[in-house]
Amino acid sequence: MGITASLESKPRPSSQHVSGQHVADKSCLRYQSIPHSLVRILFCAIDLSKIASDLECGILKQNKLEKLRTKRESVAILDLIRVKITGKTTLGKIGSALDSSPFRVLISTVLSARTKDPVTEAASQRLFRKFPDSSSLSQADPREVAQIIRPVLYHNVKGKRVVDISKVLEQQFSGNVPSKFEELIDLPGVGRKTANCVLVYGFGKPAIPVDIHVHRVSNRIGIVRTKTPEETENELCKIYEKKYWLDINELFVRFGQTICKPVLPMCPNCPVRKLCNYYRFEFSAEMNMLRA
Ligand code: SF4
Repeated sequence: MGITASLESKPRPSSQHVSGQHVADKSCLRYQSIPHSLVRILFCAIDLSKIASDLECGILKQNKLEKLRTKRESVAILDLIRVKITGKTTLGKIGSALDSSPFRVLISTVLSARTKDPVTEAASQRLFRKFPDSSSLSQADPREVAQIIRPVLYHNVKGKRVVDISKVLEQQFSGNVPSKFEELIDLPGVGRKTANCVLVYGFGKPAIPVDIHVHRVSNRIGIVRTKTPEETENELCKIYEKKYWLDINELFVRFGQTICKPVLPMCPNCPVRKLCNYYRFEFSAEMNMLRA
């Protein structure tokens, strides 16, 4: 699902003069000016690592002065995103496939860390063709697994990890994936996000897996104001009733992959721009710059 997709480096769009596109291109000026902003910030002796972290998440300092969205607005935002986005994440596809199983969701989630969706999807398919279940994967040579899942990032580490996980499943859970969060995070190398993904996509149990997309999107819009994915998960669980939890990861990840991208989000065409703190700040700054 690209659930932990790294920041993508997108080429800048070329100058266009079609009306809607023209506005989008003007917004690029904002990003081209970032190095100058950083120089000014240096002179102000502000902590650069903090600024870098904020920029990475797309949360500029001024955005923090904006009010957070109400619960009602946060629900409306989900509906607006649902109408706009198309397609599924890799985990969405694997979780809804005819041959889906919690085991496949678990292993695919481990492979997806810092790897793009199409790479994860293809690697998962190759792996499950040769090792369809925990019984076969637990007896595999980690070096062979690493070669099969290549070019997944950290394929050597992940190859060993999925074999180790399969061994634990065989030895402690009779080859089944546990359906309790506390048992899932006890598996080798499985953290909160992976455990929550297995609950949502493998078992259909309500949980909110938070990856870099979910963290960035919910902070940019102003649904939450948090510093870590874990804080974001806690806040989202308070804001949204449980009936929405199953959808949040799928909607925000697809939205983050296609519209609210890490670099150059497609704000002028975004369905939630009227409810977005980042848009308000970016465009008021943009207008000021154009007027100057
Ligand atoms: S307007 Fe849309 S694309 Fe732009 S930052 Fe807000 S949510 Fe993301």
